[in-house]
Amino acid sequence: MRRFDLALPTSVDDCLQILAERGEHAKLVAGGTDLLVQMKNGVLRPQLVVDLSGIARVRRIEGSAGQGLRIGAAVTARELEVSPAVRGPYRAIGESAALVGSLQVRNLATVGGNLCNAAPSADMAPPLVALEALAVIAGPGGERRVPIADFFTGVRQTVLGPNEMLIELDVPAPGASSGGQYLRHTPRRELDIAVVGVASQLTLDGARCVKARIALAAVAPTPVRAMAAERALEGQAVTPEAIERAAALAVEAAKPISDQRGSAEFRRHLVRVLTRRTLTTARERASA
Ligand SMILES: Cc1cc2nc3c(=O)[nH]c(=O)nc-3n(C[C@H](O)[C@H](O)[C@H](O)COP(=O)(O)OP(=O)(O)OC[C@H]3O[C@@H](n4cnc5c(N)ncnc54)[C@H](O)[C@@H]3O)c2cc1C
Repeated sequence: MRRFDLALPTSVDDCLQILAERGEHAKLVAGGTDLLVQMKNGVLRPQLVVDLSGIARVRRIEGSAGQGLRIGAAVTARELEVSPAVRGPYRAIGESAALVGSLQVRNLATVGGNLCNAAPSADMAPPLVALEALAVIAGPGGERRVPIADFFTGVRQTVLGPNEMLIELDVPAPGASSGGQYLRHTPRRELDIAVVGVASQLTLDGARCVKARIALAAVAPTPVRAMAAERALEGQAVTPEAIERAAALAVEAAKPISDQRGSAEFRRHLVRVLTRRTLTTARERASA
């Protein structure tokens, strides 16, 4: 590990000031579970590391089922897993957080780090896409809000500009009868990354689906929405046949590669199976 300076800002403004002065040579650190690995193996060599853990605004979770949820970028996976606010319609967020690494990793790993690292397999992205969260970004020009589905621009690339930081995720209330689930396939039960991940969120009016959102991970450079599958469900009763049709349509949104962890064909099969399972659970949770 090369030597580096450490800055410990206590507010978003302090952090932006540090980035304005030394941003070119700096990296933000939240939990460090991605960054430190990249620094140790020499992929990144920042002169300055800016630790976000002292900034209260990025550490809080606020909200409720009816009001929407605000999740600070430096909230850890473990905090999301156990938070009473991340229940009901937001349950898939906690489920995805609970799958990250091991307990030790989850005590450090943050939602903002997961999103800003922008790995195609990032587990915490799909439920936030399915819940139509907004990324609140602060930078030299003030604050801006970007739908999380548009936050990712490629493998390990995001819309974050120079000297910008993600400060929170703003998750709108999805409606009274809404439920979701996140599932992923990994060959090992723990400490493995998703071969495919799927989040589904359904909002119902009686038996009829008023909104369906399905987000897929690890089947393209960025998380993708299965829009044809969503359209096939909206306005319809969510029957097993409708779910099966949507699961088949979701496969068309996937553009997987073959690698040592799974062939493209296997990944397409997983999209179908996981979409069917998550939609079935989402329907149950929305009607509960
Ligand atoms: C053993 C192990 C197992 C893992 N298992 C999983 C897994 O199952 N699923 C999974 O998805 N990931 C997994 N990961 C990856 C990692 O733990 C997650 O991506 C984690 O959420 C990253 O968060 P962090 O706070 O540690 O990020 P950091 O390492 O602190 O930061 C990651 C990147 O994001 C940037 N960044 C962080 N916060 C901000 C911000 N607020 N604004 C702008 N940029 C920011 C940093 O500069 C850095 O480039 C694993 C990692 C390890 C080491």
